Amino acid sequence: MNSPTAATLPITGDQRLVKNINRIALLRLLREEEGLSRADLSDRSGLTRSTVSLLVKELIDEGWLRENEVIVTGQLGRRPTPLQLDGRRFVLVGAELTPDTIRVVTTSIQGEVLEANEAALRQVDPEGACHQLVEMISVLVRRVVDGGREVLGIGVGLPGAVDSQTGVLQFAPNIGWRNVPVGERLRAELESADLSSVPVHYQNEADLAAIGETEFGPRPADDPLVYISCGVGLGSGIVLGDTMFTGATGAGGEIGHTILHLQGRACSCGRRGCAEAYVGLRAIAADAGLDGKPEALKAAMAERKDQARAAFDAAGRNLGVLLQNIWTTFDPKSIVLGGEAVALGGADFVDPALQVLASYGEAAGVPAPTVRLARYTEQAVAVGGAAYALYALMHPYQALLQQQR
Ligand SMILES: [Zn+2]
Repeated sequence: MNSPTAATLPITGDQRLVKNINRIALLRLLREEEGLSRADLSDRSGLTRSTVSLLVKELIDEGWLRENEVIVTGQLGRRPTPLQLDGRRFVLVGAELTPDTIRVVTTSIQGEVLEANEAALRQVDPEGACHQLVEMISVLVRRVVDGGREVLGIGVGLPGAVDSQTGVLQFAPNIGWRNVPVGERLRAELESADLSSVPVHYQNEADLAAIGETEFGPRPADDPLVYISCGVGLGSGIVLGDTMFTGATGAGGEIGHTILHLQGRACSCGRRGCAEAYVGLRAIAADAGLDGKPEALKAAMAERKDQARAAFDAAGRNLGVLLQNIWTTFDPKSIVLGGEAVALGGADFVDPALQVLASYGEAAGVPAPTVRLARYTEQAVAVGGAAYALYALMHPYQALLQQQR
């Protein structure tokens, strides 16, 4: 097989492709600014008014767009009709597999969560886990179809680096998987659940959460954006130039294994001094005197135990150093913090991180980038999966490149 490059992509367009690109352009314009009229769309896209009218009619008939009520102002003449995305017909499905939990959600194309479900992972082996995952997805999909709506796609977040060209999850130490052909397995499960016609995408969890922030977040979307997922593992999703940056093999953004301390603590990856050995939940639970058991942190924090709070404070300071390194590497418009550690530690974890970051900024005389918390909290990855299913439709070229990479 030839090495995949942009040159091997089918970029010579037939009429259908051009039409699709134009349709997507209109949808994207309306997502950036709700209430544009046909005339506005024509001005901004450079398409003729008759082409816009034709495409808008099609998009309304299919259920992508709707016309808003025209506000009667008493002015003479017909006022242009404002348009907006129609959230009623199409539904996106997102899912997250963690080492102990499966979460599934359905959302509208505007990112509104319609339904959510969560269950403990019954079996950690890939066969059992993928089976349960698709079982839970099927339940939600059936409800969507029974309600007369249509599923556009499914996005699944996984706890490790995924090679999107081969569909192989290379390494997920926290669940003990190595070189698992997740894509193949999910497709087989979807086929036996009679869902093989629905496009399915699978990616590293933090990558999807990052796309969730840019697709469903406020407009214009922050870009570059770095999403940091703080849990047992520590990962990041990077959106650069409206594209997910995942590196050459899908392992880009594995910030848990950047080194914070020379000759520091031993890490699960074999190196010493990795961020995960200071900021990961197992490390925090060990520092809190809880035998390295993250599940014990919830009760300890609920009781406001000093040792647990001090452990989150120390981890937060290390996270601040990591934020400083991410800031100078990417110069992001914003950094988003999410994951279980943020939920458990709250201000005891986040505030010291922000203080450390601000102190580096002051020392250099430059303002630190905006850091905010994930919009969808514990559903960030599952919603990100739904967002990616939409992203793939609205960015067919980038999604294709991602697959060929
Ligand atoms: Zn490491």
